Amino acid sequence: MSNESLANLLKEERRFAPPAELAAAANVTAAAYEQAAADRLGFWAEQARRLNWAVEPTETLDWSNPPFAKWFADGKLNVAYNCVDRHVEAGHGDRVAIHFEGEPGDGRSITYAQLKDEVSQAANALLELGVAKGDRVAVYLPMIPEAVVAMLACARIGAAHSVVFGGFSADAVASRIQDADAKLVITADGGYRRGKPTALKPAIDEALAKCPEVRNVLVVRRTGQETAWTEGRDVWWHESVGRQSTEHAPEAHDAEQPLFILYTSGTTGKPKGILHTSGGYLTQAAYTHHAVFDLKPESDVYWCTADIGWVTGHSYIVYGPLANGATQVIYEGTPDHPHQGRFWEIVQKYGVTILYTAPTAIRTFMKWGDDIPAKFDLSSLRVLGSVGEPINPEAWIWYREHIGGGHCPIVDTWWQTETGAMMISPLPGVTETKPGSAQRALPGISATVVDDEAREVPDGSGGYLVLTEPWPSMLRTIWGDDQRYIDTYWSRFEGRYFAGDGAKKDDDGDIWLLGRVDDVMLVSGHNISTTEVESALVSHPKVAESAVVGATDATTGQAIVAFVILRGTAADSADLVAELRDHVGRTLGPIAKPKRILIVNELPKTRSGKIMRRLLRDVAENRTLGDVTTLTDSSVMDLIQAKLPSAP
Ligand code: ATP
Ligand code: MG
Repeated sequence: MSNESLANLLKEERRFAPPAELAAAANVTAAAYEQAAADRLGFWAEQARRLNWAVEPTETLDWSNPPFAKWFADGKLNVAYNCVDRHVEAGHGDRVAIHFEGEPGDGRSITYAQLKDEVSQAANALLELGVAKGDRVAVYLPMIPEAVVAMLACARIGAAHSVVFGGFSADAVASRIQDADAKLVITADGGYRRGKPTALKPAIDEALAKCPEVRNVLVVRRTGQETAWTEGRDVWWHESVGRQSTEHAPEAHDAEQPLFILYTSGTTGKPKGILHTSGGYLTQAAYTHHAVFDLKPESDVYWCTADIGWVTGHSYIVYGPLANGATQVIYEGTPDHPHQGRFWEIVQKYGVTILYTAPTAIRTFMKWGDDIPAKFDLSSLRVLGSVGEPINPEAWIWYREHIGGGHCPIVDTWWQTETGAMMISPLPGVTETKPGSAQRALPGISATVVDDEAREVPDGSGGYLVLTEPWPSMLRTIWGDDQRYIDTYWSRFEGRYFAGDGAKKDDDGDIWLLGRVDDVMLVSGHNISTTEVESALVSHPKVAESAVVGATDATTGQAIVAFVILRGTAADSADLVAELRDHVGRTLGPIAKPKRILIVNELPKTRSGKIMRRLLRDVAENRTLGDVTTLTDSSVMDLIQAKLPSAP
């Protein structure tokens, strides 16, 4: 990629200062940037003291064998103790940890004291089933409290969990179980989605035909639906966990004890098994959750709408919030059941103050209409977060206006499964925000943008996003494949972590994420980012969502092909397509005009809501589709292919 990526000509120039009241009482002020810049390792050593260590670390970073990092290596701690017991010991046992909202409307609130009992019981059950420190446990559950309990129980005994999205196919589950060599699978009879009980266990039964190493399946009863049973292998959670003692002494594990393996979402290729360890990971998850959301555990009600099968659910439902003693909402189901205002009803019901969701959800809410959130009292909200994809300026403004009451700061948080925790984001009490930009590396994090020759680009130019120093919650390797770890992340630029994302720095030096490097288009010698063309399309009043790809073209190298979902009542027509092409031409320049625009009803997305552009590129170039195992719904691809009868 050269420096000459398109200037950002999108018209959104508004800037939003932090609310004065929030800034005055903010957990983190501008001084944190200076402190961390002056002594980065000292800064992280101080953040590690947020945790309770059984043995305090004396060493911060061991980078003697790069790119294999060790953080706080001579320290020992128990992650589950830090997320649960210590809050009870500090007198907060009666504080609600989890307000669980089931899709059918059932629910329960679990205090920290109750969570401690449940996690201890589950830890005892795992031990009874022969799970030992260092083993792997696969978790395939709906969004129910037992998912959190299962993860913490693994952490407590030093077994690594590997959470697989509930709803992945049997094949996708089997390959992950095999790759991690899991001994135990924790699942449920089913979960509720879109108003119906949806079975989960059949996929496990099918997967396990290929996984002879799995000794037991621990099954949570959630829906009560009929479930096939393998005697001797399958065990009910309520029987096995329910009869255990609520006493379990947490052992102190090494800071580098593996905590979990998690597979990436697969938007760019075959998923990678990312390994995270304990002390550094928990330090950064806790610090960023405290800093970026300005969490006040005594008064905030926090809600992250992610699934625990995604890294966001690991770091910002389980580990960060619980390490910080937060009260949070966990919702089982879909946003449109039984009506399209379900999320806002939940915000109103629990008085949610901090909401963390994804651009894909925000664009869906835009499509459904402003009148839906307007029916609910959202005045409790004070900070809004976004994660997963670049957020289009149009969607950012909509989020602020229609959800944030025109006053909530928005934190657009850039990070990856590999980074373990947030890396680039505004701070709500410090940053003057810019719609569409993640802006600046967090205190203690070093990020920049470089060109093909690894030279840092000047302000106003684009290139590749790199991280220039190791960070506490960084992945330690790709599970079982150190060489792939080196090749994927540390070989493109000497001594720097290659994130795989394109980015640019604006004239103030703020960072704008431009989508995957693999997705950047080269049209008649110009680099054009998919993100910018998509944002230009979404800024048209009739467009709700779009995905743009570059398809091989005989004359221009690549031609821009756009897939567009319309808002509410807008109808497909040749005139509209021409209007959209002109709109992009006017917004970004004639070179960025899509050659083809296809109006579609759905886009292929991963379970975490990310658009899978590589599949659209396969379609646009008439190729057989690549790996579709992480798609939410693979029938979407048939519908899109039907729209494209001939070669481009
Ligand atoms: P794979 O690596 O298998 O292709 P993936 O990268 O989609 O999967 P994740 O680790 O869940 O899996 O996603 C991380 C990516 O999501 C980032 O590299 C970036 O492209 C995108 N992303 C996340 N947050 C943001 C954000 N705030 N702004 C822009 N992009 C973001
Ligand atoms: Mg990735």
